[in-house]
Amino acid sequence: MGGSFNPIHYGHLVAAETARDAFALDRVIFVPAGEPPHKARTVAPAEHRYLMTFLATASNRRFDTSRVEIERPGPSYTSDTLAHFHALDPDAHWYFITGADAVMEIAGWHAAEDIFRYAEVIAVSRPGYALRLRSLAPALGDNISRVHHLEVPALAISSSDVRARLSNGLSVRYLVPEGVEDYIRKCGLYESERQA
Ligand code: NAP
Repeated sequence: MGGSFNPIHYGHLVAAETARDAFALDRVIFVPAGEPPHKARTVAPAEHRYLMTFLATASNRRFDTSRVEIERPGPSYTSDTLAHFHALDPDAHWYFITGADAVMEIAGWHAAEDIFRYAEVIAVSRPGYALRLRSLAPALGDNISRVHHLEVPALAISSSDVRARLSNGLSVRYLVPEGVEDYIRKCGLYESERQA
């Protein structure tokens, strides 16, 4: 499961668990993006995002958190990450799970063909997104059959809303796991909109 996780919230966790059930996955590996190639805006430092993701996933024995993107120098291309996991277990059936808004851009990603060679894609969204994903068909050709859509009502929670609440001094209780909120407050993350 790829994402910036800036910060991780319950929507991500419910999405991962829903995907695990729906696709009978053995486990879900959360992969915080190191240096998002598509973002000019700043995100919290990768090590913070990794540690928050680790804290949020630690209590689920079917969830893991990977350092592969935060330790790989240069832009975090999904194709490189999937090549890495495919090489670790070539016989496994790999899925790349991420937000549907991100998947809408996938045809333009670096080495997009490799993404579909190594994995099928699960685009998670709040309800009502199916039509937009179908519009990807001309850009993806046959690979459109390797894109699956999963509706997750809990994705009404978003990292940008969590960051806005934090920078405005509002509560994020019940939006992020308690340990993540404690970590954010301890490190003073997202206190100013400059990091949003
Ligand atoms: P983003 O543009 O910050 O997020 C787009 C939307 O998707 C947001 O609404 C976001 O909500 C949601 N989202 C992102 N990850 C999610 C997840 N795991 N579960 C549920 N919703 C999710 O996208 P991003 O997080 O930076 O990137 C998403 C993934 O695509 C990452 O793994 C990134 O490395 C990959 N990517 C790769 C390339 C490339 O290889 N060239 C280019 C772009 C993206 P929240 O803000 O609430 O998370």
